[in-house]
Amino acid sequence: MRECAVPAPVVRGRFAPSPSGRMHLGNVWCALLAWLSVRSQQGVMVLRIEDLDTGRCRPEYADRLMDDLRWLGLDWDEGPGAAQPDGPYYQSQCAPLYRRALEQVAGAARVYPCYCSRADLHAASAPHRADGTVLYAGRCRNLDAEQRAQLEAAGRRPALRVTVPDRDVAFTDGLCGPMTQNLARECGDFLLRRSDGVFAYQLAVVTDDGRMGINQVVRGRDLLDSTPRQIWLQECLGLPQPAYYHTPLLCAPDGRRLSKREKDLDMGALRSRFSPRQLTGRLAALAGLVPPGTQCTPAQLVDVFDWNKIGRDDVLISDW
Ligand code: GLU
Repeated sequence: MRECAVPAPVVRGRFAPSPSGRMHLGNVWCALLAWLSVRSQQGVMVLRIEDLDTGRCRPEYADRLMDDLRWLGLDWDEGPGAAQPDGPYYQSQCAPLYRRALEQVAGAARVYPCYCSRADLHAASAPHRADGTVLYAGRCRNLDAEQRAQLEAAGRRPALRVTVPDRDVAFTDGLCGPMTQNLARECGDFLLRRSDGVFAYQLAVVTDDGRMGINQVVRGRDLLDSTPRQIWLQECLGLPQPAYYHTPLLCAPDGRRLSKREKDLDMGALRSRFSPRQLTGRLAALAGLVPPGTQCTPAQLVDVFDWNKIGRDDVLISDW
C-alpha cells in the first residue's frame, strides 16, 4: 500500500520586538533563537514591530532595531522592508483590527469597564499571583449602570477587562514542557484595553499572530505566564494555537534578568566592541551550540541548531 504523505505545514515564526529603546543582549539572544528555529525548518520569518505604547516607543528605535538585526545577519521574509502580505506590521497602525477583535471577544466572554486606579489595584488586600503581580480581585466586575455613571461623572475613564472562566488551560511548551494555569485563580480578569485607549499587549499579540498565520512563537520566558490567557483568547477568536518555545532568560551576575537598563549590553555598546561574527559566536556559545571562542554568522549555525541542545535554565552573563 502506498503511504499518503501529508506535507507538514510551513513553519511561520516571528520576532516581535517593542521599540522602546535600543535592543539589548537578551533581545538579540531571543531573536537569534527564533531565527534559527525558523531557518532550520525552512520556514518563513516575520518581523512585527510592537509599538502599541506610543508613549514609550519611537519610530527611530524601530529603524535602529532593524539596522541592528541586519548588522547581525538576521533577516526576515515578511515585515517592514520585505514582503507585506499581512500588513500592517506596526502595531501602532492596527487599532481598527484590535477593535474588531475586542468586539469578537465580547461576543464570546464578558467584557466590562474597569475604573480601578493603580492604587486601587495595589491595595494591601489585593490577592497576588505566583510571580508577585496583583491578581485582579473583581472590584468593577459587578458595577451597575448607576455606579458606572457616577464614576464617569467624577472623571474616571475606564479600561476594559475580560472575565476569565474558572478553567485550567494546559499546553506543552517546546522547551519548558507541560504547563497548566487556572485562569480564574492564577491569572484573573485581564485588560484588553487600557484607560488611555491603548489596546493591551495580550489582545494585540493574539490578533496579529492569528492574522499573520504564525504557527511558532519563540520568545523570552518572561512571557510564559501570558501564554494561557493568549491561548484562551485564541479560542474566543477562533484562531489556531501556535507551538510555543519560551527561551531561557539572560541574567546579570546578581541574578536579575538583563534589561534595557544595562547600557553596556545594549546593541550600541555591543557593536562597538564586537564584530557581527564575534557577537553571534558568543551568543551561540551561551546557547551551547558552539564551543566558546567560535566566530560565525547566524547562517553558519542553521545546520547545528536543534532545540534539544538548548538548555532549560536561565543563563548567567559574566565577563562580557
Ligand atoms: N513585544 C514583546 C517584547 O518585546 C514580545 C511579544 C511576544 O513575543 O509575544 O517583549
